[in-house]
Amino acid sequence: MLKELRAMMHQDIESILYDQAAIQQVTAKLGKQVTADYQGKNPLVICVLKGAVLFMADLVRQIDTHLEMDFMDVSSYGNSTVSSGEVKIVKDVNTQIAGRDVLIVEDIVDTGRTLHYLVDLFKYRQAKSVKICTLLDKPATRVVPVQVDYAGFKVPDAFLVGYGLDYAERYRNLPYIGILKSAVYQLKQ
Ligand code: 5GP
Repeated sequence: MLKELRAMMHQDIESILYDQAAIQQVTAKLGKQVTADYQGKNPLVICVLKGAVLFMADLVRQIDTHLEMDFMDVSSYGNSTVSSGEVKIVKDVNTQIAGRDVLIVEDIVDTGRTLHYLVDLFKYRQAKSVKICTLLDKPATRVVPVQVDYAGFKVPDAFLVGYGLDYAERYRNLPYIGILKSAVYQLKQ
């Protein structure tokens, strides 16, 4: 039964863009860069829930310096494949931001609205520095400019799922990143 359900989940994927090995390799590379840049700084690494949670878990294990973690949940998508354009805080961080070197960890930058909002918010809260580390960057769909400091892969304008990324809360547990078949979301709209 479990096997059949997994097979069904994989059948919804048009093609696999990055498998586990590719993700692991790029995460190690990003971890090395972050390690070099944050030596002696004790950064506050903030995971944007829920999409970035798998990437965050793998990334922090590749960062070889003291750090603290916190989690923020913002939503701009709802259960659709198109951004609503409005960013809402669903869960805020618990840590004081003033004076901290903040590293925001995100799964994907699309329109840029979420990160633009978060960078502004942490600057307003007087962070000492604010940088962005994203696994995926979709530059073709950018609406608001954001400076991405660390990016794993530049991706095409397609709706991606897996390794934390969902469609209507599904597919986050796929171990790879793939393009979702459009028939899956067209059926539900
Ligand atoms: P932005 O504010 O840059 O438009 O969107 C950022 C958020 O939109 C991401 O954290 C992610 O949750 C969602 N998003 C953007 N593109 C995709 C995509 O291709 N697939 C999925 N599953 N989510 C996406």
